[in-house]
Amino acid sequence: DHSDVWLQTSSFLREKERYLVVSHLHPDGDAIGSTLAVKAMLEHLGKEVVLTNESPIPPKFQFLPGCDRILPPTELDGCSFDGVVAVDVADRERMGVVWEYIPADIPLLNIDHHPTNDRFGTVNLVVEDAAATAQILYTVAKVMDIPFSSSLALALYTGLLTDTGGFRYSNTTPEVMEMAASLLRHGVNAGEVADRVIETMSRGQLALLQRGLSNLRFTADGRVGWIWLTRLDFQESGAEEDDLDGIVNYARNVIGVDVGLLFRETEGDKVKVSLRSREIVDVAELAHSFGGGGHARAAGCTLTGSREEVEPMMLERVNACLEGGRE
Ligand code: 5GP
Ligand code: MN
Ligand code: MN
Repeated sequence: DHSDVWLQTSSFLREKERYLVVSHLHPDGDAIGSTLAVKAMLEHLGKEVVLTNESPIPPKFQFLPGCDRILPPTELDGCSFDGVVAVDVADRERMGVVWEYIPADIPLLNIDHHPTNDRFGTVNLVVEDAAATAQILYTVAKVMDIPFSSSLALALYTGLLTDTGGFRYSNTTPEVMEMAASLLRHGVNAGEVADRVIETMSRGQLALLQRGLSNLRFTADGRVGWIWLTRLDFQESGAEEDDLDGIVNYARNVIGVDVGLLFRETEGDKVKVSLRSREIVDVAELAHSFGGGGHARAAGCTLTGSREEVEPMMLERVNACLEGGRE
């Protein structure tokens, strides 16, 4: 049962010598914060820790201590480890190529809060009602009696702040606020973290937003809003992958809209779709039916095809969900 999983988690973190810590590609604040939090916790326990991510760390998160220790998978050759900790990862594919660097016989601890998590670990600490993986790790630290050093507190706070949209989304529970308060007492500077991760934008992000807004469309009934970004939009705005952050919200935030979508062309004929909903459609279920996943109000998936194929198909599915009241 569930209490067993917490025990298995503590044993997993105590019984090995060298750990590899990994999160999902194109990491967000929770992915990076959780990676660094596990590093702080394991180092407190006297363990050797190697951190990796398929994607580079976005500049706005590089102020987090230890960020420079997150290695690209190409630097993992020759590294040995006897345990893997995956944080904020719903399924193997979300690790990207890192998955190929993990020998099949190495035990894996899967700590996550995505309802679509497929329990790919040897031990699976999946807490679906946690606001962030960082919230689960906070409890792990408490259970294991690990003190909240300033770097551990900062890493956890960053994950909590970003996955709750700055303490605004529906996952902002009393427990979240209590955890935030406790982390502030351990020395986190709320104003500074928010300034760096929420109130900071690259020129590329602004240019991409400009293009996105000029492409924002709505269905006739106004319940669905969507943005299409081409590869050219990316090139011409000089944007990076993480500059997409938050753009989809503009589609969802318009009065009368329940579902906002962002389509963006990636490699070949692949189209990455970000979905956000206000209250009617469970976008995690919708994304999951296309091989993606996420949360009820924020999810994503990748489709294959031309704009003429992908866009009407997806909009039709969203409309069907709206008609049915659910997916
Ligand atoms: P975003 O739209 O910001 O990329 O992602 C929103 C949410 O959906 C995040 O919680 C993210 O973990 C999840 N998500 C996005 N894309 C995928 C995907 O391809 N697969 C899975 N399993 N989850 C995704
Ligand atoms: Mn994440
Ligand atoms: Mn998360």
